[in-house]
Amino acid sequence: MELVEPRVFLVGETRLVEEGLRAYLEHAGAPAWSTDAPSDAEHLCEVYGRLCYRSFEPGLNPNVTRVRKGNDTYLGHILEVGHGSVLEHAVLNFVFADVSRVFTHELVRHRAGTAISQESLRYVRLGRLSAYVPTQIREDERGLEIFCRTMEQLEQVQRELADAFAIDQEEKFAVKKQLTSAFRRIAPLGLATTVGWSCNFRTLRHVIEIRTAPDAEEELRLVFGKVYDAVKGRYPNVFGDYTVEMVEGLPWVKTSHRKV
Ligand SMILES: Cc1cc2nc3c(=O)[nH]c(=O)nc-3n(C[C@H](O)[C@H](O)[C@H](O)COP(=O)(O)OP(=O)(O)OC[C@H]3O[C@@H](n4cnc5c(N)ncnc54)[C@H](O)[C@@H]3O)c2cc1C
Repeated sequence: MELVEPRVFLVGETRLVEEGLRAYLEHAGAPAWSTDAPSDAEHLCEVYGRLCYRSFEPGLNPNVTRVRKGNDTYLGHILEVGHGSVLEHAVLNFVFADVSRVFTHELVRHRAGTAISQESLRYVRLGRLSAYVPTQIREDERGLEIFCRTMEQLEQVQRELADAFAIDQEEKFAVKKQLTSAFRRIAPLGLATTVGWSCNFRTLRHVIEIRTAPDAEEELRLVFGKVYDAVKGRYPNVFGDYTVEMVEGLPWVKTSHRKV
């Protein structure tokens, strides 16, 4: 068996279509409007927010005589007043690798604003098992020995089942799939696997807030601390209101603008 630590990959993000946006701004009567957004994703959230009140510039809407300037100020106000729906327009795409089924099972409870693709253990046969060992067990010599020994036994069980059913000699893929799915029932919940997870900014803020809090599960805290590290500098105007307190070696990412 192999001991691993979960990894976070940001593999995609929302992109502007410049000519389409220019054409829309001309249509809206604000062809000269521009912003200083540090990313396309933040730029788009500002556009959708301003679209609501025609607040690209004063006078487009006779009711609007002043407008906030700058992406930081604009999105800062969105966070303050909790107008979070405009943050749903930007989507980020992550891959979480070497995460356990404990992690994925809790992750998929977040339904709003997410898309999920999970490694299929019905198709992908288990061979060598790998796992993240939670701190309490990792730091206890006997606990770690029990953990690793059990993982190795379960790895051996996978090999024995593969031999017993001669899966490598099986030619029908449908039968291999049935057997692989049957074998996984004896696999541990802690085995490392991969999940692809996409979410919008609004969802990501909510999930970072509740999954880095001290009452969340350790592996979720670890992964969403890494997610926060991946996004805080890249989208500073959406995540700039957060502060970090370290609790038991992991970041607790907090804000006064919770769940916008
Ligand atoms: C520390 C901790 C312990 C937990 N323990 C358990 C447990 O013991 N058992 C268990 O089953 N779960 C547990 N959970 C999971 C929890 O109950 C939620 O399912 C999970 O956190 C998903 O979050 P959410 O409800 O905010 O949904 P999300 O899908 O993240 O939705 C975001 C928000 O959108 C709104 N929303 C989403 N869907 C709906 C809807 N259908 N109707 C109305 N509004 C909606 C809500 O305001 C919601 O908060 C735990 C979670 C945490 C963080």
